Amino acid sequence: MFARPLIDSVDFARNGKELRGETGLAELSRLGDMLARTDGTLTYIVRGYREGDSDMLKVSLYGTCILRCQRCLGEMAYPVEIFSRLLLLPADRLDEVEENDEVDAIEATSQLDVLALIEEELLLGLPFAPRHPDGECAPTTNGLQQKANPFAVLAGLKK
Ligand SMILES: [Zn+2]
Repeated sequence: MFARPLIDSVDFARNGKELRGETGLAELSRLGDMLARTDGTLTYIVRGYREGDSDMLKVSLYGTCILRCQRCLGEMAYPVEIFSRLLLLPADRLDEVEENDEVDAIEATSQLDVLALIEEELLLGLPFAPRHPDGECAPTTNGLQQKANPFAVLAGLKK
């Protein structure tokens, strides 16, 4: 079992605190079907800091996820190296932030669920439709990759 850490996010940012840990991929249930396998662990580092008047968190994730290739449906190891900067805001001010590629805003709470945060960053950071590089897909042996014969499709339309 891995502990499910909660942090006081604003205190974390203002005092420059840092949390490092590991989590099993099986704990991150929201990833669900994105993972071909849930064994393995991720290392995370959450660091608080100030930027001007803003309270910030920096989240770094390292590890390997086993994803399912959307072309051959085989497993593929995907190296995870995700870094994100998060701006902490009270819930009623989240709407004020314009969509910004560099910084995401999250609710400043005194009980921030670190694993939920990691799940969110992984959902944003993992490829939506992962594929092996060209030519590296597993050979078709199980019929899953059978393409419809275009002539058979045409013949079906004519009937
Ligand atoms: Zn493949």
